[in-house]
Amino acid sequence: MTPMITIALSKGRIFEETLPLLQRARIRVLDDPETSRKLILRSSDPQLRVVLVRATDVPTYVEYGGADIGVTGRDVLLEHGGRGLYQPLDLGIARCHMAVAVHAGFDYARQVRPGNRLSVATKYPTITRNFFADKGVHLNLIKLYGSMELAPLTGLADAIVDLVSTGRTLAANDLVEVEHVMDISARLVVNQAALKLKTPAVRRILSVFEEAASANMEPA
Ligand code: ATP
Ligand code: MG
Repeated sequence: MTPMITIALSKGRIFEETLPLLQRARIRVLDDPETSRKLILRSSDPQLRVVLVRATDVPTYVEYGGADIGVTGRDVLLEHGGRGLYQPLDLGIARCHMAVAVHAGFDYARQVRPGNRLSVATKYPTITRNFFADKGVHLNLIKLYGSMELAPLTGLADAIVDLVSTGRTLAANDLVEVEHVMDISARLVVNQAALKLKTPAVRRILSVFEEAASANMEPA
């Protein structure tokens, strides 16, 4: 009997942008997470199923073997730390970037000097600490779970570190981007034990993603 491979995806962007990659190998997901309440989705490949988890939980599922494979943002992966994960592939989907943004009236250039102190609100404490440590700026880090844009508008923080794609959300809230922290895209991660124990089955799914991703990574 060939083993079942479980892939962890998060609802929304990651799920939607992963579907076309599977589709290239003629693999369809048979349940629609928008209309079904199922958290385990069958696919047209009897050896592959999808589990739907919170975006930040994808690395945890794969780390502990709740899923063999997962698709997760570079942002989530950096915050998780990547323990126990084999990271073979940049899928080139869910592309955006991490940025520092401030309220339009805030003099960031003046505040961000070495030895100065800056209060920064973010969902990404590890990325933020590393970024400002490199600049020698002291940080008051305020951990948030969402709606970061509000923080500079209410005086909660001087700046935010958040994901930006079009910049429309920033503009709508009178915020301006002042630093490009890093480019972000979704990565394939694999449980290290699964790679050893279920090698042929895992390899087969990996090669599906490798082929689809290489097409995706070609410069536009
Ligand atoms: P939740 O909504 O459950 O709190 P989340 O906000 O982290 O989770 P998503 O907004 O679906 O979930 O983001 C999932 C991943 O998609 C992120 O970790 C990031 O890598 C990527 N992503 C987030 N925002 C964008 C964006 N605007 N454009 C492209 N990719 C994005
Ligand atoms: Mg979200």
